[in-house]
Amino acid sequence: VLVATPTGINLIGTIKNELLKSAELTGQWEFKLRQIEKGEYDFRVFVNEMKQMVSSLVSQVVQEKSNAMQSDSNLKCPKCKTAELVKGKTAVGCKNFSACGFKVTFMVSGIELNDEQLMAFVKTGNLKVKKDNIEGSIAFNNNYEAFFKEDAPKAVKAKVEKQVKKQVPLSDIICPKCKGKGFIKGSTAFGCSNWKTGCDYRLPLDSQIV
Ligand SMILES: [Zn+2]
Ligand SMILES: [Zn+2]
Repeated sequence: VLVATPTGINLIGTIKNELLKSAELTGQWEFKLRQIEKGEYDFRVFVNEMKQMVSSLVSQVVQEKSNAMQSDSNLKCPKCKTAELVKGKTAVGCKNFSACGFKVTFMVSGIELNDEQLMAFVKTGNLKVKKDNIEGSIAFNNNYEAFFKEDAPKAVKAKVEKQVKKQVPLSDIICPKCKGKGFIKGSTAFGCSNWKTGCDYRLPLDSQIV
């Protein structure tokens, strides 16, 4: 069973339009059909002409379509919103980089992104990722620089906040990274008490607690 896809239906529509637009062509066909009736023109020749006509129209329409898709994928720079983006070996950046300055490298906050991830991020401005076990996403700051944003480990931050108010002991806070128990207060941050065994999870003392 043949099922027409939306692209196919589109194609049929466009071809119909093209054919109907051409009055000259319709005139020629009518003339030839009359000749065929009178036995003055070979029907098979006519059919072949039709086939060629349609196939050249199809390729024309397909070409137009693929051109349209090409320009779709030419993403605009999210910062200046006018220049296109270009992809280099180490980064995707604004074609007008000297003026606009927009660039995202394949390495964001120590997280390596593949081609697909980087393009998805540049397109949407958000990409879910995990950094060392910690859930978060890559986002833009106000200056369109990419950075890793921890998913608010709300429970942890809430507890740190409570700790600041002396409502819970630091030993009650579970580290979201190593899942170990207990935090210690340093001079600039609350950190996982397992720092000695290699966990570097910390929350700045002045971290905005969300
Ligand atoms: Zn730009
Ligand atoms: Zn830890």
